[in-house]
Amino acid sequence: MAVEHFDVLIMGAGLSGIDAAHHLQTLCPRKTYVILEQRERIGGTWDLFRYPGIRSDSDMLTMGYGFRPWISPKMIAPGEDIRNYITDTAREEGIDRHIRFRHRILRAAWSSQQAAWTVYALRRDDDGREQPVTLTCNFLFSCAGYYRYSAGYRPEFAGIDSFRGRVIHPQAWPADLDYAGKRVVIIGSGATAVTLLPAMARTAAHVTMLQRSPTYIVSMPEQDVIANRLRSVLPAQWAYRLSRWKNIGFMMYVYQLAQRRPQFVKKGLIDKIREELGPDYDVDTHFTPAYNPWEQRLCLVPDGDLFQAIKAGQGSVVTGQIERFTETGIRLESGQELEADIVITATGLVLQAFGGADLSVDGRPVELSKTLAYKGVMLSGVPNLASVFGYINASWTLKADLICIYVCRLLNLMDRKGARQVTPRSGAEKAVAPFVEKFTPGYMQRSLEQWPKQGSTAPWRVYQNYLRDAFSLKWAPVDNDALEFSSPAKASAGPVAELAQTAK
Ligand SMILES: Cc1cc2nc3c(=O)[nH]c(=O)nc-3n(C[C@H](O)[C@H](O)[C@H](O)COP(=O)(O)OP(=O)(O)OC[C@H]3O[C@@H](n4cnc5c(N)ncnc54)[C@H](O)[C@@H]3O)c2cc1C
Repeated sequence: MAVEHFDVLIMGAGLSGIDAAHHLQTLCPRKTYVILEQRERIGGTWDLFRYPGIRSDSDMLTMGYGFRPWISPKMIAPGEDIRNYITDTAREEGIDRHIRFRHRILRAAWSSQQAAWTVYALRRDDDGREQPVTLTCNFLFSCAGYYRYSAGYRPEFAGIDSFRGRVIHPQAWPADLDYAGKRVVIIGSGATAVTLLPAMARTAAHVTMLQRSPTYIVSMPEQDVIANRLRSVLPAQWAYRLSRWKNIGFMMYVYQLAQRRPQFVKKGLIDKIREELGPDYDVDTHFTPAYNPWEQRLCLVPDGDLFQAIKAGQGSVVTGQIERFTETGIRLESGQELEADIVITATGLVLQAFGGADLSVDGRPVELSKTLAYKGVMLSGVPNLASVFGYINASWTLKADLICIYVCRLLNLMDRKGARQVTPRSGAEKAVAPFVEKFTPGYMQRSLEQWPKQGSTAPWRVYQNYLRDAFSLKWAPVDNDALEFSSPAKASAGPVAELAQTAK
């Protein structure tokens, strides 16, 4: 059977995959492309996570696409609204017609002779059976996110099997979970835990957030007054652009301030929480992190909903180490017992690059940890491959947009040069830092070792700075000494036979 071929194959139909398709259609209109998506729906993260209250923890003015105004007045938006925004974009632009759902990519093999990737996927049919599917493409664009979809991270807890209640991970929320009137303990202190507490506290008997150590929490108005005002007097796209730049500028200012004067920013954040919770609350124990602001992501809460729930007595925070699960709840090392009917393990994600797919170049496996990231987009020594990894200190989409524009510029430059292959070459550059630096959450620390590394200077650095990236990815010339453009001679035998050969 003939193998289908596309100019570009996009892995994943989440926020970034739809972003990539939009830019391809706009900036490279003659390129053919397909999106392979392992799930049955568009939206990625915003479709997978279904826990109560799921919402963005960055503002939607920067989390929305640069090309499509976010017009809802809610700046911290419910997951469903974000899912609809992504899905509407795909439908209105005809991107959905390019998506093949239930296609999980297992591996991709590059052949220099063919200047093409052979992509091996499994297609899940209606009856649940899986069929192998093989496609080829000239350029592989991974928009597969950064974590494993099949299951989240749950540490080993002693005695968990003896617990008589239900244990649930937010990544696999059961649609039938009834928690009304139940005692709930949430293990964790990240964005998911602080979202779940007020949402569940509305009907649960009581919700306890059990954390090992505190996180920085910032209350933000759910609606942006300036953005709403601008929208009432300006065309939507103009109002969106202005408000977006306002927020980009503000976030960059706060981040830089936190890097330069961490104690000052820390005090400002903690003082705000004292104001919210009042003088009698033990803010030192429960809301004062041991690390500096932005060494882990700040958690935004809309209109202080977390603090309202705590003040109303519907929820509480306990800080301590778990000794073990008991039949009726959790015992802490301090001896304190937390009775629970339901325990939510908001203990994080398992990091995963390239959707878990194995990559090889001319028959040699790509060891990600031995590669250097080129502009945070491509990998040293790996031709015609790009991937999206967003910011840790700002909205994911800001960087996704830039990367998509960059990939289109690169493809157009290849066409102008008549080059079939582009490979970042690191030369004497050495790995000096992990892919993400100065960022300490557990899920990063657990697996960052296996990720590509950063070198010492640009273009081998991965910046967390929108202006710098805008210059590097959108405005600076694409061509430079670190990119090798080539057009290996085509093999004489049929392409599929050759590709199958190299991919073995
Ligand atoms: C609970 C939660 C809340 C978040 N909140 C924010 C926030 O407020 N702001 C922010 O900036 N970021 C946030 N993030 C980060 C978030 O992941 C990004 O905002 C964004 O959704 C990433 O989009 P993506 O398309 O790159 O990846 P994803 O949303 O992860 O989508 C990846 C897609 O690729 C598919 N895929 C993966 N592997 C394969 C494979 N092998 N074959 C085929 N398809 C595959 C997946 O099924 C999925 O559809 C949050 C993350 C989580 C988990």
